[in-house]
Amino acid sequence: MAEIEFDIRNLPEQVGPPDHWQERAACYGLDPEVFFPTTEEEAGLALSYCGVCTVRDVCLAWAVQNGERYGVWGGTTEQQRRRIVRDVA
Ligand code: SF4
Repeated sequence: MAEIEFDIRNLPEQVGPPDHWQERAACYGLDPEVFFPTTEEEAGLALSYCGVCTVRDVCLAWAVQNGERYGVWGGTTEQQRRRIVRDVA
């Protein structure tokens, strides 16, 4: 699975909730189930949308700031997000 490099210290601060930016998202209108895969290996389709998404940094910032534990957010899987948060703690 391709992994996108992030430094969460460079993410936007105090982003608004998804209803402020989701209309500009690559995943807008898609089946949300795609973004909640049951395994990390099944996250590839969701991550491909994130890879071309213009609000990826905002999405990841929202997920990190709000402790979103489940699903793909901002080009990260649950495990990847836990790791990048832990690495800067
Ligand atoms: S980064 Fe991914 S999950 Fe977040 S809004 Fe964009 S496509 Fe959707």
